[in-house]
Amino acid sequence: MTATSPSPAVPTAGTWSAPGRVNLIGEHTDYNDGFVFPFAIEHRTRVDLTTGRDGVIRVRSSFAPDPVELPLAELDALFPARRDEITEWARYPLGVAWALLDETQTDPASVTGVDLLFSSDVPVGAGLSSSAAIEGATAAALNDVWDLGLDSVALARIGRRAENDAVGAPTGIMDQTAAMRGRADAGIFLDCRTLDAEIIPLGFAAAGLEVLVIDTRVSHAHSTGGYRERREACERGAALLGVPALRDVSVDDLPRAEELMDDVTFRRVRHVVTEDQRVLDAVRTLQGDGPRAVGPLLDASHASMRDDFGISTPELDLAVTTARAAGAVGARMTGGGFGGAAIALIDHELVPAATSAIETAFADAGFTAPHIFTVHPSDGARRDA
Ligand code: ADP
Ligand code: MG
Repeated sequence: MTATSPSPAVPTAGTWSAPGRVNLIGEHTDYNDGFVFPFAIEHRTRVDLTTGRDGVIRVRSSFAPDPVELPLAELDALFPARRDEITEWARYPLGVAWALLDETQTDPASVTGVDLLFSSDVPVGAGLSSSAAIEGATAAALNDVWDLGLDSVALARIGRRAENDAVGAPTGIMDQTAAMRGRADAGIFLDCRTLDAEIIPLGFAAAGLEVLVIDTRVSHAHSTGGYRERREACERGAALLGVPALRDVSVDDLPRAEELMDDVTFRRVRHVVTEDQRVLDAVRTLQGDGPRAVGPLLDASHASMRDDFGISTPELDLAVTTARAAGAVGARMTGGGFGGAAIALIDHELVPAATSAIETAFADAGFTAPHIFTVHPSDGARRDA
């Protein structure tokens, strides 16, 4: 696609935003070409955009006050080869600008200079995808102001490309899809192979249910060896089974898988294969029996991540068991693991008691005090003003 020069009708200033997300179910399935079922949350990253100096992009964030500024024409030389020269947080929005121009074959000289100021209430590093929120806000804003005409599916891919190539984090497409395509009161059932996405009404509020997030404040890092090791185990398992990805393995194939591989690889494979099935079951259960009925699938997902995939932590396990004991219909860690947050699906009136039970349990265990709050399925990226 070729971009045109900004016409006088194109906005020259405005505010855009994109949300963080919670993954209801479907963990470590995205890079195995499988299924995920996230929803966008009300915590958002906002960007105030004004047109800037000709040919220059400038980014600032409320939590990194030093601006980063460079000529748009230099983006192409910086990413991906020389990305280390850019302050890490600025690689997210600058990476999106680079990916947008590159993907649309747009001459940097043909677009207006921009000044982007970010502010956010998405907790960082908690597994709620503040990274996709900043990418989504940037992508939505620049797509409009530069009049690039990309749709939300294309913008989600732009966000992933920025995160993979400009930041260097090997993430899948789930987070960006939720940030771009989320809807109020609904989840997004996403096939990570075809990128077909279906909006599935969740009906939590109507059923008197809340989603409680328990942020353990133990921060995760995608770049750590644990994440890479899990990806490699999945690739190894798929290769041993002779399939392109674990998506192509069904629960019925597991006995054969067990014979073909070592115990650790097998348990990694079993998590992914059963988790894909749980996502499918969750969508069907939700539609057939309503939101309460998905509770046991959340519990089973947590047990699988704890026992087979080995990515839970004592804090996440305590959050989950305490929430269940306090009456949650289901609970699981969410996000990549090794820290971050857990979620619990729980009756509205039980939230205060569950919150204090979890706070007490964490204090008794000598853990850092968790950050506990409810989230509500919300709309994806949009122009606000
Ligand atoms: P998560 O996506 O789970 O919050 P990541 O490690 O993927 O964690 O992304 C967090 C990183 O994204 C931050 O360390 C920072 O570099 C960048 N980031 C996210 N939101 C903002 C923001 N509002 N301003 C500046 N940088 C941000
Ligand atoms: Mg992230």
